[in-house]
Amino acid sequence: MPKYDIVIIGSGLGGLLCGNILSKEGYNVCIIEKNRQIGGCLQTFKRDNVIFNTGLNYTEGLDEGQILNRYFKYFGILDKLKLKRLDINGFDIVTFEGKEYKHAQGHENFKNTLLQNFPNEKDALNKYIDKLKTISDYFPLFNLSKKQPNIIDSKLFNESAYGFINSITSDKKLQNVLAGTNSLYAGVIDKTPLYIHALINYSFINSAWRLIDGSFQLAKLLADSITENGGVVLKKHEANKFIFKNNNIKYIELSNSERIEAKHFISNVHPAKTLQMIDEHHIKKAYRKRINMLENTIGMFTLYVVFKKDCFKYMNFNHYYYKGDTVWTTDYSEKKWPEFFMFYTPATSKSDIYADGAIVITYMKYNELKNWENTTVEKRGNDYLDFKKRKAEKLLDLVEKKFPDIRNKIKSYYISTPLTYRDYTGTVDGSSYGILKDYNDPFKSIILPKTKIPNLFFTGQNLNLHGILGVTISSVMTCGELVGLEYLINKVTLCQNTML
Ligand SMILES: Cc1cc2nc3c(=O)[nH]c(=O)nc-3n(C[C@H](O)[C@H](O)[C@H](O)COP(=O)(O)OP(=O)(O)OC[C@H]3O[C@@H](n4cnc5c(N)ncnc54)[C@H](O)[C@@H]3O)c2cc1C
Repeated sequence: MPKYDIVIIGSGLGGLLCGNILSKEGYNVCIIEKNRQIGGCLQTFKRDNVIFNTGLNYTEGLDEGQILNRYFKYFGILDKLKLKRLDINGFDIVTFEGKEYKHAQGHENFKNTLLQNFPNEKDALNKYIDKLKTISDYFPLFNLSKKQPNIIDSKLFNESAYGFINSITSDKKLQNVLAGTNSLYAGVIDKTPLYIHALINYSFINSAWRLIDGSFQLAKLLADSITENGGVVLKKHEANKFIFKNNNIKYIELSNSERIEAKHFISNVHPAKTLQMIDEHHIKKAYRKRINMLENTIGMFTLYVVFKKDCFKYMNFNHYYYKGDTVWTTDYSEKKWPEFFMFYTPATSKSDIYADGAIVITYMKYNELKNWENTTVEKRGNDYLDFKKRKAEKLLDLVEKKFPDIRNKIKSYYISTPLTYRDYTGTVDGSSYGILKDYNDPFKSIILPKTKIPNLFFTGQNLNLHGILGVTISSVMTCGELVGLEYLINKVTLCQNTML
């Protein structure tokens, strides 16, 4: 029976980053992944020779000295990634009430660009950027600082994103434009905390990037680094049950009944799903109930479009398009669906001029999929295919408002729904970003890496923040539990200094 120092369940970004850090630290690491492909949301797939991302459209903070640049250097992957910086003077374009507004990179550039549309709002824009900076500075792992703030006493977690934005300006358009990329965190008016909006928007304003030829390269680089350090990454290995000896976990049992022994276990799987792998008497009912009751972010309906050859220009920016008078659209009515879409053309090494495909994303509630809840991938029946097709055509009707001739340029398209994500990544109800954070009761929805079981830790998007940056920070927090957080921050910092 194989025995490891650490078994990590799930090879999403969170699992792979923990594997990278801990194998570098000399631990004997094994990652088990239920799918044929590693990467979780970093998986890509190919249709008609076009590569599509499933969960990484663009990433942030990768310019020299910026936060993700520093972490990626430490992981040893920065110089191997194929990156393309999005347009500095407009990396995100928000179309609201028929007019385009640009989000630009760089603090002054961001403010000055929006001042062209809102010349009387200098004060509001200054307040906005200053607040984002203050919040980002507050979180030590976003700055690699060792100073630990007093989180419990902080009022910061109780601030609402919607409330703050509306407090700095009475201009409804500017309020919506500032919140215009809120599908990046599936923002909910009366729940989303300001710190979630701030950490994400601030790091994208610092710099925004696409991965050329898809996000899978990130997963592959990390998996390669783990095997180079002597670790193993096992595909088609589904974790099923934790087996205990006294109060500690001794084995993870797979769905084929095979057992793998380790000293420590890290779960990159949604906490509620992780607890399902633990027999009742090992976890207090109240803890299980608390985790199971947590609300998850809404899922996404995605169109993967293949274009006819050399017909649709590559766009080095993203479009966020809204048809109504608000950008807060998670609580849409089915009649009005879709109320918004995010549209982008992935970067490829084939051409800078033409796009071979596009990805179009909008929200979809899990309730709309209840009829097929008990089905599995590719076995959901013709009524599901009809449903997807009907929805795709409705979404294309809205996309046509922005790109009137697009239907003539499409060769084929493919569709995913929240059920696709539920079955591929194991996220509860196909949620896009895992547990929804709530400023009304912030500490209830924040999950710590340490669990009630001494040798079991959580990692991944469900902890403090989702996304590439959020999951990076979560992995450092999780590994910090094993090797010491201060020690790890020193390592990351030292690595920058030696590279200079
Ligand atoms: C549509 C969409 C678009 C996004 N766009 C962006 C973006 O532009 N920029 C950005 O920064 N972030 C984006 N994100 C978010 C980002 O992709 C995720 O937050 C991040 O990749 C999550 O990583 P993770 O490791 O926490 O989880 P996951 O990627 O979900 O990984 C979990 C892994 O666990 C495996 N697993 C589950 N159960 C088991 C089991 N029983 N046994 C073994 N393995 C198991 C799964 O197969 C999976 O590989 C997007 C997400 C979505 C859904």
